[in-house]
This record gives sequence, structure tokens and C-alpha cells, in this order.
Amino acid sequence: MNSPVWHPYAHLKTQTPAPKVVGGSGSYFTLESGERLLDATCSWWCMIHGYGHPRLVAAIREQAGELCHVMLGGLTHDPADQLAQELVRITPPGLNHVFYSDSGSVGMEVAMKMALQYQVLSGHPGKRKMLSLMKAYHGDTTGCMAVCDPEEGMHGLFASLLPQHHFAPAPTAPFDATPAQVEHDLAALREVLSRHHQEIAALLMEPLLQAAGGLNMTSPHYLRGARALCDEFGVLLIFDEVATGFGRTGRLFAADHAGVTPDIMVLSKGLTGGYLGHAATLATDRVHEAFIGDSQHHAFMHGPTFMGNPLACRVALESLRVFEEEHYLEKIAALSQVLQRELLEDAALRAHPAVADVRVLGATAVIETHGSEALAGVAAFARARGVWLRPIGRWLYTMPAYIATDAEITQITGVMKAWFLEARR
Ligand SMILES: *Cc1c(COP(=O)(O)O)cnc(C)c1O
Repeated sequence: MNSPVWHPYAHLKTQTPAPKVVGGSGSYFTLESGERLLDATCSWWCMIHGYGHPRLVAAIREQAGELCHVMLGGLTHDPADQLAQELVRITPPGLNHVFYSDSGSVGMEVAMKMALQYQVLSGHPGKRKMLSLMKAYHGDTTGCMAVCDPEEGMHGLFASLLPQHHFAPAPTAPFDATPAQVEHDLAALREVLSRHHQEIAALLMEPLLQAAGGLNMTSPHYLRGARALCDEFGVLLIFDEVATGFGRTGRLFAADHAGVTPDIMVLSKGLTGGYLGHAATLATDRVHEAFIGDSQHHAFMHGPTFMGNPLACRVALESLRVFEEEHYLEKIAALSQVLQRELLEDAALRAHPAVADVRVLGATAVIETHGSEALAGVAAFARARGVWLRPIGRWLYTMPAYIATDAEITQITGVMKAWFLEARR
């Protein structure tokens, strides 16, 4: 039977029927057929505790018995208040204010509006554009599409709909680069800022790991340099930690690697452990204080219906407790070691003619190929071996759940390597 469900990013003519998922437990989800698949992507990187986690499920059940939803306009509730306090506690020092929304894209829209309005309220009404990076991905809504990579990104069709922003080259220095090695990247950023800072409200970036745009990794020195440049040019710094937040790069937040506090930071994906859609846009006192005033322009005119949803906030609180009580950062460090050993240190993989690069950072590993043709058929190949892999363009990656065992990780990396190294067809 044909389902009326319209699937994302799918070519309707060539798509194969989507397998039906009926449940999940730990790193696996189960199909209607009984087939179990080890999820190498943890459902677009959000199901960090895996499926069916008893504590997260119980938190949702308990909250559902008390209060499923209430508007946040003019009202508040414990889950929203407590989660905001927790987010302020765990994020880089100085991010003291939390604005909720319902998805990563909307969290970024909020960040961009906040930055522009901050500049207007601070007497810089000319600063109305964003500065983004090539290879960036910040979401699929109109405002977000305008700050995604305009060339390699997937939104070229909509160019006429999008406001024009500024772009700087994607950083090229790797994670372990020396300060000298990032100078070139920072010089490129300085160049754009010095030419256009009068019209730039904020520099926005996915710190350390540009995720959907090709899993491009860079150095903490780049973040520090970007922070200094933003201060020099009166530009706000926005970190989109929608993908990197909650441990993905090996620290709780990518910003922690650099000891940098952005002016605005956006969290989503792992925020609720993936159990409900939600997002938080955090701001420093400096940004928040600019909104305290008498004019009609001082109110922040944004308010998604489901912002601060009690179920989402409650499960996010439980997710954080599990993360801390069960020492997830140690789990991620161990998991990262396995990824490094199995992929980075595999000379045959790295030497394979289809492979352009292999990178690992925290709980993220990617095999970059020279072209997406090299990955045609890889999803079916992996599925036949019990693993759910879904490459992005020419990048074959894994971002597993942090509860994955060593054996599960080596099964994932084994399939990723086998695609290149084993004879097939
Ligand atoms: C996924 C993602 C978004 C968009 O989040 P949605 O919840 O899908 O709207 C934004 N920024 C980054 C870095 C992401 O990875």
C-alpha cells in the first residue's frame, strides 16, 4: 500500500519503500519484519541514549500525568524553569538567559533575529546581515537556508527567496592544528569582517564540526580567533551547537574545547536525548540587557506555540541527569578511541583510491570519498549486514548513540570499512 507520507530529501521516482520501524531498544531499532538494525546515525544524531531508555520514557510518562502542555506566553512551569537553570549551569559561563523553541532551525531563526535586534537596540541599525561560513548547514527554514553554504548546500533552488548574507571560506586547519596553522583561516575571516563589518550583526558557525555540510572539522584555535575578531569588529558570535552539543565532539559543548563563550548559542537535537523535538537559544547578559528598555522595539517578537513544552523540558532534564550520573563523557572518550583505532589507524582504508580523507572527533567519524558515486548502494550493503547507515553526499559517517558498546561500534566501523575493502558484486 502506498503511504501518503512524503519523505524528506527523497527522490520520489527512485525512492525505495521506507521500512517500517515498530520499536527500539539501546542502539537498535526493530522493523515490522522483525529485522533489527544497529543505528549508526542515532536518528540524525539526536538519540544519544539510544532507543527505549527506561528513565527517559518514565520521565515522559510521569510528566504526561501532570501537564502535557501549556503556553509559555505569560505563564511558566517547573520543567521550563528547571531546565533553563540547568542549561545555564552546564553551558559556557555567561550564557544566562534561555529562549525556547521547537526545533534546531527555529532556534537558529531566533538567534539571528536576536542578533539583529540587539544591534538595532545598541545603536547599530546598519548591522542587519549575517556572516556565515562555506560548508555551513543551519537548517531548512527560509532564514536558515540563507546562511547555509550557497554553493554545495542543497538550497540553490530557493536563492531568489533568500536574503543575501556574507560568507567566509570554511576553515581548513584540522582539529589538532597549531595556532600558526589556523592563521590562514582566521586571515580569511578577518578579510570579510574588515570589508563588511558595518553591515554584519553576527558571525554564526557550527563550532569545530560543520556537520551536514560535510563533517568538516577544525581547531579550537579557530574558535578563539573568531571570538577575538568578533569583539574587534563589534559583531556578535553565534554558536550553532545543534549537532555538536551534548558530547558529540568529546566535550559537553564544542565551545568547551576552546574555553570560548559565544554571545548566543543554539541547542537542539541531543537536548531532549532525541525523545521530543525542542530547542534552546541561550544569550549572555550583554545581549539580554540590550532588550531592557521603553521603546516598542525592545520586546522580542517571537513565540512558537510549543516553546517550553513541559514534556520536552522534563525529558531534557532527565537526559542531562543520565548524562552526568552515568559519566557519558567517559563513555564518549572510550567510544572515540575505538573509532580512531578502527578507522583512522586503518592504513588500507586510508589508502583506498575512493577515500579522500578519514576524520574522527569525539563520537563522530567520517570517511570522505571523492564523489557520491563511491557510496551508491552503501545503505543497502550496510542493512544486509545489520547496520543502518545513511551517507550525506560523498560522506559516509557514523554518529552513534553514546551507549553503544565497543562491539557495536566495531560492527559499524567494520561495515563502513568493508564497503571499501571487501570485494563485492
Ligand atoms: C540539524 C541541524 C539544524 C536544524 O535542526 P532541525 O531540528 O532539523 O530544524 C541546525 N543546525 C545544525 C548544526 C544542525 O545539525
